[in-house]
Amino acid sequence: MNNNIYNYTQENLEEYFLSIGDKKFRAMQIYEWLYKKRMDNIDKMLNIKKDTREKIKDEFSDDWIKIVDIKQGEDVVKFLFELIDDHYIEAVLMKHNYGNSLCVSTQVGCNMGCRFCQSGRLKKVRNLQTYEMVQQILLVEKELDIRISHVVLMGIGEPFDNYNNVLNFIKIINNPRAIEIGARHITLSTCGLVKKIEKFMNEGIQVNLAISLHAPNNKIRSRIMPINKVCNIDKIMEVVKKYIEKTNRRVTFEYIMLDGVNDTDECAKELSDILNGLNCYVNLIPYNETQNIRYKRSKSSQITRFYDILKKNGINVTVRREFGSLIDAACGQLRAKKMEE
Ligand code: SAH
Repeated sequence: MNNNIYNYTQENLEEYFLSIGDKKFRAMQIYEWLYKKRMDNIDKMLNIKKDTREKIKDEFSDDWIKIVDIKQGEDVVKFLFELIDDHYIEAVLMKHNYGNSLCVSTQVGCNMGCRFCQSGRLKKVRNLQTYEMVQQILLVEKELDIRISHVVLMGIGEPFDNYNNVLNFIKIINNPRAIEIGARHITLSTCGLVKKIEKFMNEGIQVNLAISLHAPNNKIRSRIMPINKVCNIDKIMEVVKKYIEKTNRRVTFEYIMLDGVNDTDECAKELSDILNGLNCYVNLIPYNETQNIRYKRSKSSQITRFYDILKKNGINVTVRREFGSLIDAACGQLRAKKMEE
């Protein structure tokens, strides 16, 4: 494992300094430099003694991922990053009226194989390390001279297939001494890895959980999401109930609208039935059509009908505002293009 300093939670760093016979507060000093002053040059951390600085330089690497392409759209900026082993990942900045939200990637590629998704088509190469997620935020903030107020883990990858690194990432961005993004401003989206959801609810972290449901029954879901053969809707509903009971938090269900696949009136009724009485809301996502994939977006009249049926049945529902479809900002499209070049 790469010993990058941005892989370290405050706790990990404190343990390290104690283990070399130094003081625990050294970790806080370093954090102050890295995250508040945004200074990564250890030689310039002048309140730390020279020989300690030398030890730190020996112990930790200071590799950075780098921005290799930026695409500007209206209210959206898309970043392509190159990793030190020459792989590519993406992040998308969305400017909302309530703040700047960054959609970060968690893996190089993805193994979940959802039929409609560009990232899944390219398969997982490896997990991202924590520093590679942290640096997506630091680099975007620096490049645009802005603060990011919200983070969504909805870029390339399945966050719960990279559990430990993602958990450390959340701890670092949530830490008031580091990037300081409130837990309620962080949303983790998963295709529904049931065991990991169960584990996550016991971590005591109050971030928002979003589940990519995308179908009202197992027949349709298995057709578009192979993971449904392992983590089907019944298992997901069971664990979500536990999750809500344990955390007292509302869960979001994401539902991509695919023309003729999962968008009929019957689907809307069936979805209302399975979600009835649950503390949740549904986010309808107009499908972003992508190269090489045959699925089509539902007609907007059908999205409205679907929405109305859910509403009428007492389900909280919103239609996701669209960002980025004009600049290929959806889910792995830039990376896919780069790889196919
Ligand atoms: N693996 C995680 C997070 C990354 S995908 C998950 O499955 O939730 C983030 C969301 O984008 C998921 O809901 C995913 O199903 C959806 N998605 C993938 N491709 C899409 C596309 N072309 N248009 C719209 N949403 C898409």
